[in-house]
Amino acid sequence: MELRLVPTICPYCGCGCGLNLVCADGRVKGVEPWKRHPVNEGKLCPKGNFAHEFIHSPDRLTAPLIRKNGVLTRATWPEALKLVSERLAEIREKCGSESIGVLASARATNEENYLLQKFARAVLKTPHIDHCARLCHSSTVSGLAGAFGSGAMTGSIKDIEEAKCIFIIGSNTFEAHPLIARRILKARSKGAVVIVADPRFNMTARHADIYVPLRSGGDVALLNAMAHVIITEGLEDRRFIDARTRGFEELKQAVAECTPERAEAITGINASTIREIARIYATSGGSAILYSMGITQHSTGTDNVHAIANLAMLTGNVGKKGSGVNPLRGQNNVQGACDMGCLPDVFPGYRQITDQSRSEFAAAWKTAGEIPGQGLTVVEMFDAALGGKIKAMYVVGENPAVSDPDTGKVERALDGLEFLVVQDIFLTETAKYADVVLPAATFAERDGTFTNTERRVQLIRKAVEPPGEALPDWKIISMLATEMGAEGFEYGSPEQIFDELTTIVPQYRGINYPRLLRPEGVQWPCPGALHPGTPTLFTDGFNHPDGKGIFMPVQYRPPAEQPDAEYPFVLTTGRILFHYHTGSMTRRSPSLDGEVRSGFVEISSLDARRLGIRMDDMVRVTSRRGQIELAARVTDAIVKGTVFIPFHFAEAAANRLTNTALDPVSKMPELKVCAVKLEKV
Ligand code: SF4
Repeated sequence: MELRLVPTICPYCGCGCGLNLVCADGRVKGVEPWKRHPVNEGKLCPKGNFAHEFIHSPDRLTAPLIRKNGVLTRATWPEALKLVSERLAEIREKCGSESIGVLASARATNEENYLLQKFARAVLKTPHIDHCARLCHSSTVSGLAGAFGSGAMTGSIKDIEEAKCIFIIGSNTFEAHPLIARRILKARSKGAVVIVADPRFNMTARHADIYVPLRSGGDVALLNAMAHVIITEGLEDRRFIDARTRGFEELKQAVAECTPERAEAITGINASTIREIARIYATSGGSAILYSMGITQHSTGTDNVHAIANLAMLTGNVGKKGSGVNPLRGQNNVQGACDMGCLPDVFPGYRQITDQSRSEFAAAWKTAGEIPGQGLTVVEMFDAALGGKIKAMYVVGENPAVSDPDTGKVERALDGLEFLVVQDIFLTETAKYADVVLPAATFAERDGTFTNTERRVQLIRKAVEPPGEALPDWKIISMLATEMGAEGFEYGSPEQIFDELTTIVPQYRGINYPRLLRPEGVQWPCPGALHPGTPTLFTDGFNHPDGKGIFMPVQYRPPAEQPDAEYPFVLTTGRILFHYHTGSMTRRSPSLDGEVRSGFVEISSLDARRLGIRMDDMVRVTSRRGQIELAARVTDAIVKGTVFIPFHFAEAAANRLTNTALDPVSKMPELKVCAVKLEKV
């Protein structure tokens, strides 16, 4: 048996680790870490180590399916494409192009995401294109765009090692981004102080020098109090503030009353601890902030990100190695899907939607008629579907029936659509509602590029053929566009699409496939062919016209739903080490599934004792939107009054309970806080 190694990128989290697929006899037999890769340097976490196991799952979709007499039935590609094309055209004709919604995928390549938004805007003419970034880092995009002029991780993963202080807030890095956690350990071994603020004493907190048990939703109160301490004690970086920022006096005024004592009442953190961590962060000589969805998934998500950016600018901790504001992206290509414009409020390259840019895109894509303006976000699309305004949806590689807030509402919306097309590798919980299911290829069965959390653009390579009649997403989208009579979608390869998108997305302008053959890929922005890429953003100035960062004063606002007598607990949700997102891939990987087979609810031992709940007892968790039953994990590692449920398990879906209250700017739903009650079953 001849073994073949195919270098590619892990399909799971935003670290974007390099790995080799070990192939023989037309199958992927195993995985080896890529030794010369700049992120993982020869290591992988459990998900990466078993990334091959779902590829040949017997559950893979191998042919198009069409619903006939209520049953999804095998069909040919010509039949499926004809039906999708005719039904979408008919609905567009009858109800207008705004009656169609499109969801793109953070697991599809840059090329596929670019093509899908082009198809949505130039062929379907709908403005409604969004994807799961809305549910993870849309608050980062809006928050950092206001403060810095653009919203992405400011530093590089490797440079985290250089930090003297690492402040981790709302990120369980050791479970969700294990290969970034490795850099935290390296920094700590060199003397860095690690501070973790989180409602759970999670795996990350166990590696902290200082653990801060923050009540979910208290982020702005904590961050403003830290800014208050820094300013009142004269620890701010005056030189940086004067030379590089605007709005310091406004910030000073805004945090004048935000004392640690006031924050203690909101956050549950001792005022003296707040003073201590503020001093360490401000005086370490190089402090990095790492955050994830514990910051962004709130109805105050944009405010939370503003408060983080304020702290970094106040202390001059931006634009140099070992510092910065580092949002850790959850999915392998969520950064790329945003860069490609799969968002309803910006075009590719984060180009604002204006009459001028609409005309320019219409010209670039040689499309007949106009390019639409701003559209609806994910949650708004399902509301519009329930209200009868959205009649049809095309969902590529997303599983909103498990991943989105208030899944009962999502199910009713999907069920009520006139026409639903789902394109995926498995018959997901969402695909079960579809009228047509299109079988797609996995990461191992196609070429293309992913962009990781540190803006590193990297090649993925086809190692094996997709099963049966499954096809890469880019191929399906271009076939569908052509079936609908569109021109300009006759691509021969992903490279051809990439070459087109680099003329459209300025951050990618100097990148091409030959450059991506080297292990380190290229970090955007890369404006020209000779430009080396950009490991650290804002070394010379921010992305505002005057080059200055803008302080964004914010005030604490409580979460949209508070615990009360009827629903006395706060529910927070998240990931665990062995599973990923809605579990469609990891739960079909025997080695990962064998580690954790079902969902659970973590309850503080104090609360459990009061309710008579013991370890492994079945518990009913109910919110105003739904209820689920799952086993109790009684622990001292969560603050009293808060419970935690991982969101990977469809049969006990945490999102059946969560709240659709939105951040007014980013339209992020408040997935991290809702009120629930617990009963022993
Ligand atoms: Fe894959 Fe993320 Fe694990 Fe790296 S850290 S191997 S990218 S899941």
